[in-house]
Amino acid sequence: MIDIKHISKWYGSTQVLDDCSTQVASGEVVVVCGPSGSGKSTLIKTVNGLEPFQKGEIFVDGVSVGAAGTNLPKLRARIGMVFQSFELFPHLSVNQNLELAQVKVLGRSTEEARERAGSLLDRVGLRAHQDKFPGQLSGGQQQRVAIARALAMDPIAMLFDEPTSALDPEMVNEVLDVMVDLAREGMTMMVVTHEMGFARKVADRVVFMDAGKIVEDCSNEEFFGNMEARSERAQHFLSKIL
Ligand code: ADP
Ligand code: MG
Repeated sequence: MIDIKHISKWYGSTQVLDDCSTQVASGEVVVVCGPSGSGKSTLIKTVNGLEPFQKGEIFVDGVSVGAAGTNLPKLRARIGMVFQSFELFPHLSVNQNLELAQVKVLGRSTEEARERAGSLLDRVGLRAHQDKFPGQLSGGQQQRVAIARALAMDPIAMLFDEPTSALDPEMVNEVLDVMVDLAREGMTMMVVTHEMGFARKVADRVVFMDAGKIVEDCSNEEFFGNMEARSERAQHFLSKIL
């Protein structure tokens, strides 16, 4: 579903991605971890064309992200993205947040969009809050709304960039639980996170980045079951967070 091939990226003369390659198959969950500044956000944003790159190529469902003729807005509409900061529209109610792009981008009727919004709010446990504004919700609730909003577009894959790292500790699990459910239902997911409990539970593969490079890309069993075989940098990183 996602095929990242030899991506390199520079900001001016500073290289931030160095020949990165990995794949996410349909229905697969890939967790990306690594120290701050290693290029995780930059890499995940290249997948839906939010960050341009100078070398390499990315295919999403067979569509080339970097090619000049690619309709990026159309591609982005098919890939859900959830950020660390929830990025809801503050002046719109929860319902309106979920309905807007369904109507404007997918051309659904308001009734259809509302029905889809309602069933997704049920799923993330927030139907009772549908008329509130983001500012009236906790961080964990806002992030669950952000996930529901992305799902309302019927994405072919979901990208998450540290979705729980801005949350108070007691709210982390309510968001991870929604993500675990999504993973178990077969959603294709690329998740930047340091939540290794989540990774161990649902990741098919774990990618470890350092200084713009993919240093490790291995199966869950290999990553967690054979820690001694990991690179020194990965072991050092894991020793600090596990
Ligand atoms: P991570 O998500 O792993 O913390 P990032 O992808 O955010 O890392 O950043 C990778 C590197 O790119 C860092 O060294 C960061 O300082 C640099 N960087 C990120 N955004 C920009 C930018 N807009 N201009 C210049 N450098 C940037
Ligand atoms: Mg980041």
